Amino acid sequence: MARPVDSGGGEFRGARERLVETLREKGIRDLSVLRAIEMTPRHNFVPTGLRHRAYEDAPLPIGNGQTISQPWVHARYLELLELKGTEKVLEIGTGSGYQTVLLSHLVAQVFSIERIAALAQQAREAIQRAGARNVNLSIGDGTVGWREYAPYDAILVGAGAPAIPQPLVDQLAEGGRLLVPVGDREEQQLVVVQKKDGKVTTRDIAPMRFVPLLGSHGWGIDEGR
Ligand code: SAM
Repeated sequence: MARPVDSGGGEFRGARERLVETLREKGIRDLSVLRAIEMTPRHNFVPTGLRHRAYEDAPLPIGNGQTISQPWVHARYLELLELKGTEKVLEIGTGSGYQTVLLSHLVAQVFSIERIAALAQQAREAIQRAGARNVNLSIGDGTVGWREYAPYDAILVGAGAPAIPQPLVDQLAEGGRLLVPVGDREEQQLVVVQKKDGKVTTRDIAPMRFVPLLGSHGWGIDEGR
């Protein structure tokens, strides 16, 4: 697991503690998830002009028409995975890299794919600054997964898909969990896909709103905008 090098300094510590308290009040119970949020300087993952808003429980723009997701959404995702610390995890949609770093505190190995090269580069720098060493990044279409390192104990999709991408189900380990928002471009249902005894089951969790997952097993480039 990663050790934080840049804890974010004193300037934002109070704001970060208040965010953790807000998440607790909104029902997040997993202490390791709350600790990861307390350790991770979200202000380093948002544009400089938005740093003063970094610890609001809200999504924020990160450029290229994309967003860093709401902290509660990240916390809920991580809680639903019921992580033990030994997992190999695949994240689709690195975006700002913030959730990538949260994951790096909670699992053994993180693989993350982003389709927009400029965001991937920014994320790479922010992840390095956070001191995460167990992260591997790739630029490309995450809807096909990352076959080379499969299977994964958990897979998280951070963008809304029209249907569950089959390559991700195929790359899920026995006993593993895949989280993916499925629906139309406006609203999706967060679905947990589980693979147990060779059988695949799905469970709806809650309505969510994400930017579209674009790719060969997602929305077409023109459909997604
Ligand atoms: N967890 C990230 C965060 O909070 O910064 C989520 C970022 S945003 C909500 C979703 C990201 O998914 C965007 O950066 C978008 O470019 C990316 N994305 C969309 N389709 C993708 C695909 N097929 N492969 C990889 N990334 C994709």
